[in-house]
Amino acid sequence: GSVMEKVLQRRSLQMRNMQRAWQESPEGNKMLDFRKSLPSFKEKERLLQAIARNQVIVISGETGCGKTTQLPQYILESEIESGRGAFCNIICTQPRRISAMAVSERVSAERGEPLGETVGYKVRLEGMKGKNTHLLFCTSGILLRRLLSDHNLNGVTHVFVDEIHERGMNEDFLLIVLKDLLPRRRDLRLILMSATLNAELFSNYFGGAPTIHIPGFTYPVQAHFLEDVLEMTGYKLTSLNQVDDYGQEKLWKTQRQLLPRKRKNQITALVEDALHKSNFENYSSRARDSLASWTADCIGFNLIEAVLCHICRKECPGAVLVFMTGWEDISCLRDQLKSHPLLGDPNRVLLLTCHGSMPTSEQVVNAVFDLLLGFTNFCHHFLQKFIFEKAPPNIRKIVLATNMAEASITINDIVFVVDCGKAKETTYDALNNTPCLLPSWISQASARQRRGRAGRVQPGQCYHLYPRCVYEAFAEYQLPELLRTPLNSLCLQIKSLQVGSIGEFLSAALQPPEPLAVQNAVDFLKRIGALDEKENLTNLDPKLGKMLVMGAIFRCFDPVLTIVSGLSVRDPFLLPQEKKNLAEIAKSRFSAKDYSDHMALVRAYEGWKDAEREGSGYEYCWRNFLSAQTLQAIHSLRKQFTFILRDAGLLDEDGGNNKLSHNQSLVRAVICSGLFPGITSVVHRETSMSFKTMDDGQVFLYANSVNARYQTIPYPWLVFGEKIKVNAVFIRDSTGISDSILILFGGALSSGVQAGHLKMLQGYIDFFMDPSLAECFLKLKEELDKLIQK
Ligand code: ADP
Ligand code: MG
Repeated sequence: GSVMEKVLQRRSLQMRNMQRAWQESPEGNKMLDFRKSLPSFKEKERLLQAIARNQVIVISGETGCGKTTQLPQYILESEIESGRGAFCNIICTQPRRISAMAVSERVSAERGEPLGETVGYKVRLEGMKGKNTHLLFCTSGILLRRLLSDHNLNGVTHVFVDEIHERGMNEDFLLIVLKDLLPRRRDLRLILMSATLNAELFSNYFGGAPTIHIPGFTYPVQAHFLEDVLEMTGYKLTSLNQVDDYGQEKLWKTQRQLLPRKRKNQITALVEDALHKSNFENYSSRARDSLASWTADCIGFNLIEAVLCHICRKECPGAVLVFMTGWEDISCLRDQLKSHPLLGDPNRVLLLTCHGSMPTSEQVVNAVFDLLLGFTNFCHHFLQKFIFEKAPPNIRKIVLATNMAEASITINDIVFVVDCGKAKETTYDALNNTPCLLPSWISQASARQRRGRAGRVQPGQCYHLYPRCVYEAFAEYQLPELLRTPLNSLCLQIKSLQVGSIGEFLSAALQPPEPLAVQNAVDFLKRIGALDEKENLTNLDPKLGKMLVMGAIFRCFDPVLTIVSGLSVRDPFLLPQEKKNLAEIAKSRFSAKDYSDHMALVRAYEGWKDAEREGSGYEYCWRNFLSAQTLQAIHSLRKQFTFILRDAGLLDEDGGNNKLSHNQSLVRAVICSGLFPGITSVVHRETSMSFKTMDDGQVFLYANSVNARYQTIPYPWLVFGEKIKVNAVFIRDSTGISDSILILFGGALSSGVQAGHLKMLQGYIDFFMDPSLAECFLKLKEELDKLIQK
């Protein structure tokens, strides 16, 4: 103990010297001047005292006042200054990956250090932190995961939970766990940070914790609603011919879904009514809702374009921030604006985008950039470089952003805000027990927050692209995520935390979900076999467990994870009697000539995830004869299995387990290792549908199998998981494999092979069949790493 103590003391002194040197340097001084100009600086002493005296405090303050970048830093600095730097460990959670990354980079720059030194970050599959990191920005999901294995957060001195006003599921979940932890860790400090004023809710939850408000300086922002915007821009919404293609398509959908019997001109009249006569309140809430959606959707991008033109031509200089719903909208609008004579002119307009996720095609670019830039994520890099910088004189900066620019990220020079009034949020379709990510109306609080973004440097303007009466019909605050999403995967997480009954645990939440919703989730988990009758986590079928472990070891974890989850539930491919043929064709589209039902499942699942991200999960399932509910179950199970394997130490945090996921033969090999001895010979095929198994039995391919559609199969063997006896014996899902795969991964069959390392491999495989030998996993991994490199 005392040796360690001495080491830390010495390290603390070094930290103090380095900090002082930076603060006295010219750049450090300049940085300090900037930091002193932030509203939070005036409250610094008060804050430090409050944190020293209370276990929990709640801090509220306008976005941009310096909560995220300054407060954790104040603590770090004061600990370092008092010679205790190496003894403190501060964690600050963010709801989104990208803000954790951007903020950590900013804070290390403010301290004149490279990222990963005193300040680091950690998000799923990526991170930069070292042994000297004492302030860590991470996603709330990462902290939750840490709590799974480290119930007491040993060594952590301060936890900041940021952006609690968003009421994300992970944040609400964290608060329950941390509240439970506080009595056990009297020395731990918890600081909650919120961008809005409703601090009492949180303060009450923690037994009246003191609240501190950081008064901000903001200039007044003038709000314009659709009525004014139409007048200002001269944009006319008189006939539907003026609706652009995008709007037409949306309109068509909306019309079909919500207003089936109304004709186009009737709808136009209704909208006009809503806009001009503002007797909106007289409509039923359903009509009001569909009407409101319709107005926003059919206006589409042309109105945004008109507003942007208006700003560029008529208004004073200043950057523009446009709030949109998601990546698809942002990229469509960007493409449209690029071809506009004024807005697309790079000498006059700097068009930027800012969003949390990237589409698949850009992930390729991202990967290339990752290679070029070493560790820096493309998106991150992109944010750092342009978003925060001032545009050159005479060039107008326009940033198209999702609601992440609402509170997590501050762009300083914004004077104009264009607000489309919607954000993507996960909603819960109780009827089908499926979540969907759909654009929905924001709350009044969000609309005000968006408006506020325009008043940071001078008085600003905000253009809300919806009628005032629609704004007045918005909910005051957004419903917490915990109350609007199904609780399936959350319940699994609760179970892995081993904190007792799910119902009891959730009843301790800030705003507990309905007992019925909890019951639904538990029933669902029982139905898919993830929980047993007593609500305990069930064990995995050992064969599938083996496949998972092999997938992790052979670094093709992700597809194997999907396959194992799929084999643990029902088949997601539906085969309705009356549309059998269509359904079979739909499934064969996923087979891409790889002669594998298992890989078809992986493709179907991946496609569904992409579709979900775009909010079209339902349509996708409908088109492809897939069961959304089963895909959802697969999704939940994937999470559960990942937890289990991570706990067993079999998954690398850096994504190394997926380095070879694109290698098809490897995935085939792992499938074979898991499903053996379910092998049938293709060579000894008897008729076009029947095959001979190893034990000389005759089996038929299930009609829905992709392999049933081929006359010839270019593999000598098919490996399968399940035989079903109807009137003959059928095999359900099968995958073609080669001789060498069978020899290497086909269990007992390989005993004839002489090569020494194959024997060793086999030995290890037999070894880890015994689940009590957890340490052997790691040894096996080392050995196999060597093998793979050969
Ligand atoms: P809050 O968390 O209260 O919303 P932040 O701590 O994120 O505020 O930001 C405080 C201020 O620091 C912002 O107003 C902005 O001026 C500045 N800032 C934050 N991030 C960056 C960055 N990456 N580059 C330049 N300035 C930044
Ligand atoms: Mg912040």
